[in-house]
Amino acid sequence: MSANNWENAVRKVEPYVPGEQPKESDVVKLNTNENPYPPCPEVKELLNDFDISKMRLYPAPDAEILVDSIAQRYGLKSSQIFVGVGSDDVLAMAFMTFFNSDKPILFPDITYSFYDVWADVYRIPYKTCPLKKDFTINPEDYYQENGGIIFPNPNAPTGVLESVSMIEDIVSKNPDSVVIIDEAYIDFGGESCLTLTEKYENLLVVQTYSKSRSMAGMRIGFAMGSEKLIKYMNDVKFSVNSYTMNTITQICGAASMKNEEYFRDIVVKIIDAREKSKKKLAELGFTFTDSASNFIFAKPEQKSAKYVFDELKKRKIFVRYWDKPIICDYLRISVGTDEEMEKLFAALEEILNG
Ligand SMILES: *Cc1c(COP(=O)(O)O)cnc(C)c1O
Repeated sequence: MSANNWENAVRKVEPYVPGEQPKESDVVKLNTNENPYPPCPEVKELLNDFDISKMRLYPAPDAEILVDSIAQRYGLKSSQIFVGVGSDDVLAMAFMTFFNSDKPILFPDITYSFYDVWADVYRIPYKTCPLKKDFTINPEDYYQENGGIIFPNPNAPTGVLESVSMIEDIVSKNPDSVVIIDEAYIDFGGESCLTLTEKYENLLVVQTYSKSRSMAGMRIGFAMGSEKLIKYMNDVKFSVNSYTMNTITQICGAASMKNEEYFRDIVVKIIDAREKSKKKLAELGFTFTDSASNFIFAKPEQKSAKYVFDELKKRKIFVRYWDKPIICDYLRISVGTDEEMEKLFAALEEILNG
């Protein structure tokens, strides 16, 4: 028998490693930036009343009801909205659609760790641009030739927010590539750069239901931009799989988008808890960035981040830690309910001062 060489033709990739989803339920889970509050009440009603016979049918491939609700909320045309199964799906589609030149795409060295994974799986060359010491972006790094640009705003895992004028500076210098701003955390106090899409047809803004709308488990993400960009993305999407988003998700997503009051209410609660937590962390001797997201990127000064992470885990409190250069000194702590944060602070008190 000849040598088995089929593995030579396998697409080999190193997959993204998401934060741990512990099996036990009695844990304080502050490690994946989920929203600690439930989705709006309409979602529960819809799920209770769902007509199961609808399951026989394929879902609407254009997810019209969901797309229309997003368009209405953001004052756009439906032809300016692309929806996907979480913003991870939307971003992966955007990489496949827009990043096809031989030039490297650019993103920060410290950022969402899915970007290099998508670049690898789609064989897109990339180059990372080092953040400044204070974890802000140096816009001039993005003046060089490139095949596309992507970064989150606020950035992850740092929580640092960049201004709309800085983003405009980068977009205006790059008329020949698509610039993607990943606004997964923008609802927690940042200013969206969505208005810039009126002026720049190569700017794509991506948002998600997973954080500010409490629906990480439903998997809904969306991109907003010029009709041209959205058309290109839909052409690719419908060339791969037309039925990615199930019927229940479409209906619940539309209902959630319509309940502005509930949305604002839980976002304000999280912002308040974040600001209170910053004070408490400062008292405990942490240093941290001025996060504009639903997490705090904090460095314990007396003990190593790894030690604190392990000790918290022993107490069934989960935060996120990366054993990577620069960020290995930090913990990323999602903002939970007041009660969860009190448990965290009691544990930190014990670990650091006990
Ligand atoms: C959470 C997150 C996403 C992905 O969210 P989905 O759950 O796939 O919508 C994308 N980008 C950043 C920076 C994130 O933190």
